[in-house]
Amino acid sequence: RSAGQIRGVNIDNGGANDPKNLKVKLVLLGDSGVGKSCIVLRFVRGQFDPTSKVTIGASFLSQTIALQDSTTVKFEIWDTAGQERYAALAPLYYRGAAVSIIVYDITSPESFHKAKYWVKELQKHGSPDIVMALVGNKADLNEKREDGIDYAEKNGMYFIETSAKTADNINQLFEEIAKRLPRPAPPS
Ligand code: GDP
Repeated sequence: RSAGQIRGVNIDNGGANDPKNLKVKLVLLGDSGVGKSCIVLRFVRGQFDPTSKVTIGASFLSQTIALQDSTTVKFEIWDTAGQERYAALAPLYYRGAAVSIIVYDITSPESFHKAKYWVKELQKHGSPDIVMALVGNKADLNEKREDGIDYAEKNGMYFIETSAKTADNINQLFEEIAKRLPRPAPPS
């Protein structure tokens, strides 16, 4: 099935090559504890539940959104579920991913540092057309913050601060990503 192949990125729409109904693999990366699972659960289930967490293997959820131009985008969301330590897992994990959301905790310089590591990894090994977003999560916390905007701009990434706790900017994050996806050519 080659209809939706854009330089190693799977924009799979069931073989129909319908640029109006996209299906994409999205991977989350970032230090443990930055809120990756909470962001996904907030987006998919509309709730903040720090206790419901998959602990073994990568978890997988999907969610479809509709854009204003009536395009639908189905995100197949991969969460590391604590496997982020195992670097060897990484290339398999993000193979074919059209989107990567790299998350840090705005109150944790260490997690920001780790986010930059993942950006470099993806620049080296990810698909050339991958859409990358840098996300500063836990924006509800009023502490001294790491600001990722300059770094994101330099690296051609979309940047947003979110809070899985208050739901701030969670839907915006996924909408903005959806708008930035490369589109397969319409059927000829
Ligand atoms: P993961 O290891 O990256 O998947 O992180 P989790 O989603 O398990 O979240 C780790 C902890 O951070 C949880 O116990 C949450 O309570 C907390 N957390 C996640 N998102 C937020 C947020 O937006 N604001 C605040 N204040 N805490 C958050």
